[in-house]
Amino acid sequence: MNEEELYLKWVRRVEALEREGIIKSKKVKEAFLKVPRYKFVPEESAQWSHVDEPLPIPAGQTVSAPHMVAIMLELAELEEGMKVLEVGTGSGWNAALIAEIVKTDVYTIERIPELVEFARKNLKRAGYEGIVHVIPGDGTKGFPPRAPYDRIIVTAGAPRIPDPLIEQLKSSGKLLIPVGSYHLWQDLYVITKTGSGKVRKRRWGGVAFVPLIGEHGWEG
Ligand code: SAM
Repeated sequence: MNEEELYLKWVRRVEALEREGIIKSKKVKEAFLKVPRYKFVPEESAQWSHVDEPLPIPAGQTVSAPHMVAIMLELAELEEGMKVLEVGTGSGWNAALIAEIVKTDVYTIERIPELVEFARKNLKRAGYEGIVHVIPGDGTKGFPPRAPYDRIIVTAGAPRIPDPLIEQLKSSGKLLIPVGSYHLWQDLYVITKTGSGKVRKRRWGGVAFVPLIGEHGWEG
């Protein structure tokens, strides 16, 4: 399949997500049209990148299904200028979508060195070098040098909410995180830090992510 065919199929996927009410806002739609998933998967999987399912990326990890990424971006209520930390870079696709919406630097942490390289390569090719900063390390500890954040988006499943991520949120900031079991079944939570430093938790529903492994996550 050539790039034109890949893009046409991608546009149909985006339109379907909009019809299904999953993509709701103009900003998420525009980001999806600007950043097709096929630019962030291994070459042999590009032909499947419009299919609404997770796809394998190196090191036994996955890039999430388009509907899941759209749901999280809509729930995050991102605005231009917001400072965002993503935990779980994977392919770099979600971080590039975030950068398209906030139109400023994005910080994203990945624990597997092979994926740090994979994501950096994808992001460079797609034009996000110097905008999306891929940080190697354990994202359960957050990334204090750039804290506090307006939004923290975790794209791996945690056993519990890591305290450092709450600490590194701005007042009124939001944390999106799947919490639940190790093996691919969690609830997605939207956590808002209130003015007094307390948190309000809203459970969105069931999701299936690979495990968040680290000091405040699962044991590796
Ligand atoms: N957001 C990614 C994308 O757009 O391709 C998909 C993320 S994938 C579902 C989850 C990622 O989280 C994996 O790459 C995994 O290695 C990473 N991960 C797991 N635990 C982590 C941790 N403590 N810190 C940083 N990354 C972690």
